[in-house]
Amino acid sequence: FNVPIAKNEPVKTYAPGTPERIGLQAKLAELRSMEVELPMIIGGREVTTDRRVRLAPPHEINHTLGYYYQGDASHVQVAIDAALEAKSNWANMSWQHRAAIFLKAADLLAGPYRDKINAATMLGQSKNAFQAEIDAACELADFFRFGVKCMVEIYRMQPESAPGLWNYNEYRPLEGFIFALTPFNFTSIAGNLPAAPAMMGNVVVWKPSKTAIYSAAVIMEIFQEAGLPDGVINLVYVSGPVAADVVFQHPEFAGIHFTGSTAVFQGIWKTIGENIHQYKSYPRIVGETGGKDFIFADPTADPQSLAIAMLRGAFEYQGQKCSAASRVYVPESIWDDVRERLGRELAAVKMGPPEDFTNFVNAVIDEPSFDKLAGYIERAKNDADAEVIFGGKCDKTIGYFIEPTVIQAKTPDYITMTEELFGPVLTVYVYDDEKMDETLTVLDHTSMYALTGAVFSQNRYNIEKITRRLENSAGNFYINDKPTGAVVGQQPFGGARGSGTNDKAGSVFNMLRWVSVRTVKETF
Ligand code: GLU
Repeated sequence: FNVPIAKNEPVKTYAPGTPERIGLQAKLAELRSMEVELPMIIGGREVTTDRRVRLAPPHEINHTLGYYYQGDASHVQVAIDAALEAKSNWANMSWQHRAAIFLKAADLLAGPYRDKINAATMLGQSKNAFQAEIDAACELADFFRFGVKCMVEIYRMQPESAPGLWNYNEYRPLEGFIFALTPFNFTSIAGNLPAAPAMMGNVVVWKPSKTAIYSAAVIMEIFQEAGLPDGVINLVYVSGPVAADVVFQHPEFAGIHFTGSTAVFQGIWKTIGENIHQYKSYPRIVGETGGKDFIFADPTADPQSLAIAMLRGAFEYQGQKCSAASRVYVPESIWDDVRERLGRELAAVKMGPPEDFTNFVNAVIDEPSFDKLAGYIERAKNDADAEVIFGGKCDKTIGYFIEPTVIQAKTPDYITMTEELFGPVLTVYVYDDEKMDETLTVLDHTSMYALTGAVFSQNRYNIEKITRRLENSAGNFYINDKPTGAVVGQQPFGGARGSGTNDKAGSVFNMLRWVSVRTVKETF
């Protein structure tokens, strides 16, 4: 059971003038100009169709990045067949050989493919270089390396034996295929959702978000180059409902690995329930959904750290992280100071395309998202119980740009304090210092989610009290830090309530969902 010790991939800074920045810029220029063609990959083969769909960067909608080939129900069926055909060879391959493929994929990501996966993420999903680096190159490599560590930990978990008998667990993959339905906001999650079940010996049909197809295609290229056998992971570009129709009717459907919206996940759960009689086994349903992530400050909070956490927690990657800070509770006694510091920091923030590395904020992912966010901002400008105190400009002439926006809500249940917006909009509620307890109760009750949260305080009694008090409000809880940026192997990520099944991506908890254990007892 000796495997290389898993370590987090060191993050590069892409400082001006460094070879790493020059290399990434060259790759960006290359991808920008090449008009790539992206076929589906089914059973290891490239599949094209007569529906060629144009890809454009969210920050430059008139530029053509390339085209992908859209499939239909028949392609999903063929992908399932290819997966099932690959199944027995893959499931029976020893774990060392499966591990070797994903360790190699991690090295490809960290080495020869680093610029390509980062550039595809920057252009395709409008992510700045640093955000792409921590996601696409580093976190995905971490998922693979720590995934292998988890495999070993799981296989080592064995029951006791006794004189005259021997007991052991066999960690078999699930019977059938796994469906990976992946989001746009993290290239690492898009890669990990098919990879985690595959590491445990499962075969997968993978449907990426239509707004993150470029990076998905690069991940697939890496899987293939790392030696993943044909048919183990099959990449299809189809609409969600088309895929769902075929997948959830199939008797061999064995589980779903999902990250996306709460509404979609609840719909999936219902469909699986309705079809439950057709499946061989109860499908595993593993999903991470939305968040309405909070920062709670007490009167002793350090105003500068709080302002920075608000800025980074709410606006990195345009707030399009499930973990993004979107509601903040600040006591009246420190609010003026915090507001001034936040304003100063925001004034230094630049917005524009990610090809210019000085832009901290880029575009939001697509037009529906832009329209939804602009709608909430417009509403806040007109509502009596809210005030837009910073930002508020929205412009979609060149790309989907929304200025980092801070709303001050006069009531703690104002709509932007409770609904997930998934964009660069932060709402602040200023509470009366005397009413900290009531405010904590309101915080816990106003949202259906429980993904991430943070407390800012320099009073150890308060830190402990608030941490206990909010123990069901977040699956990832941060003390004096922003609520984003969980690191694989360090802060296993996931939340409960409306935020998902809390199976903690990149951990043993998650990987255990992809095995079906046979316990064997032999007597001598
Ligand atoms: N793991 C990411 C973080 O900690 C968030 C993942 C997500 O947005 O789904 O910021």
